Amino acid sequence: MKLSEMRELLARRDIQLTKSLGQNFLHDAHQLERIAAAAELTAADKVLEIGPGLGPLTELLLQQAGHVFAIEMDGRLVEVLQERFAHHSEGRVTRVPNQTETPLNQGLVELVPPKLELLHADALRYLQREPRDWRDWKLVANLPYSVASPILVELAAGRRAPKMLVATLQLEVAMRLMAQTDADDYGVLTLLVQLDFSPRGWFKIPPGCFFPSPDVDSACVCLVRREPPLLADEKRAAYVQIVKRSFSQRRKMMLKLLKQDWPKEKLDAAFAALNISPQERAEKLSLEQFVALTEKLLLPD
Ligand code: SAM
Repeated sequence: MKLSEMRELLARRDIQLTKSLGQNFLHDAHQLERIAAAAELTAADKVLEIGPGLGPLTELLLQQAGHVFAIEMDGRLVEVLQERFAHHSEGRVTRVPNQTETPLNQGLVELVPPKLELLHADALRYLQREPRDWRDWKLVANLPYSVASPILVELAAGRRAPKMLVATLQLEVAMRLMAQTDADDYGVLTLLVQLDFSPRGWFKIPPGCFFPSPDVDSACVCLVRREPPLLADEKRAAYVQIVKRSFSQRRKMMLKLLKQDWPKEKLDAAFAALNISPQERAEKLSLEQFVALTEKLLLPD
């Protein structure tokens, strides 16, 4: 979708963009292709797209994947999408297409099976409200930046997470998702998402590729779900609490911070058994060490 087409579409419908919804649309064909390529799509893939906007990425996803479920919060854009992709969605919103419903009176007309399921909703609230099994899905999205982190944390947590996350977001958030131990960007977001996903790669997308240009730099990240998981489901809550507490005051020794939640003797024994210095700060501990610490602290006395 060219920039001129975007401008024309918005002008024709008199749509003024809403900054708070992060409405910066990607018009650069090369970057759109790179995003779709990162997801390695085949006709067997089911894709979750959050924030399709005017549909420049949706268009590629529909060409390359078997099914696209797109969640858009802005009703004006939902109307645009319905119109643009009527042949894929039968022009309906919030309806799961069912190929077996083809009416008999269609005679010899060969119908293209609808591939697009469009939902008009706040994606974050939808994900929180409707726990779904996303294991067979890939997330491919140019996310609304203001809610990108909570959306990713919501989707990535638990064993029902998509098999792949390909997300375009603020460069700063992208760096936190991809960070390695001891890097400036390494922290809670890194450890919450990397527990279940290993970073595969990323690339920067310059502001000029979007309309209008955002004030921040952007990047597309690709993360792949870990198989098998590093931690059993029932231990996740403790892991999240340990990570958050350890980083609650970044410059403090994590052992001291953890004393707010765990008995001193248990902590001393776990740190000694794992060869972690009692003076260590959270940013020096690897993901694997956080997992091992969680396992140790959860052992019965
Ligand atoms: N995917 C399009 C593109 O690449 O051009 C648009 C991306 S734009 C950065 C983000 C989109 O997310 C906008 O269309 C915006 O209306 C939508 N949006 C914002 N907040 C949302 C939310 N909570 N749930 C679903 N969509 C949202």
